[in-house]
Amino acid sequence: MNKRNYSKELENKISEFQKENEHPGLLLHACCAPCSSYCLEYLREYFDITVFFYNPNITSEGEYSKRVIEEKRLIAEYNRQVEEKDFAGMNSDDKARKINIIEGDYNPKDFYEVTKGMEDLKEGGERCRKCFELRLKETAKVAKEKGFDYFTTTLTISPLKNAEVLNEVGEEAAREAGCLFLPSDFKKKNGYKRSIELSHMFDLYRQDFCGCSYSKAQREREKLKCSLQADS
Ligand code: SF4
Repeated sequence: MNKRNYSKELENKISEFQKENEHPGLLLHACCAPCSSYCLEYLREYFDITVFFYNPNITSEGEYSKRVIEEKRLIAEYNRQVEEKDFAGMNSDDKARKINIIEGDYNPKDFYEVTKGMEDLKEGGERCRKCFELRLKETAKVAKEKGFDYFTTTLTISPLKNAEVLNEVGEEAAREAGCLFLPSDFKKKNGYKRSIELSHMFDLYRQDFCGCSYSKAQREREKLKCSLQADS
């Protein structure tokens, strides 16, 4: 079977909306401001976007607060550009639309419950699939309840995350909730590179680990190994 090109599928969908002059309502699950930066820049011309910040996987309240504050600051900056028609240095033009945000519940116990027994797995394995399922099922539920036309996630921008798994999980969550999932692979078309440029441009807080306590510990071990190698 041919491998699906999720980035192309999204482009095709957008072309259909443009032909009909439609701007569907999109609930965009966001994990952090750096990953959102490119996704929002790309999508805000074509959709009425509401960001859904739902990440019970994040290791501590302090880390959670930093990430949610930066997400809100980024959205405020994009909305200021729309109000003031100030797009200097940006890809989007004045067709860009304003963005809303909904903050989900932060209950880390929900994350620890679904990933129980998978504490020692490396990033990218079955624990991550469970983590995606938790976050995307909740996003699908909210999209259905609030009547959004589509939902999707910024998570496909990460080169460390498998876009095929994420799209599979998103489509499954959509089927269960009875709503529509928008396919994506935001790292394509230089999306990841652009997210780094935008993070510098807006001086965003960029964490060096994915989010959960296990990914933080893994990152610490890798840093220690590098420093020991450098000293030897
Ligand atoms: S490494 Fe990232 S995706 Fe995987 S379980 Fe931890 S927070 Fe979730």
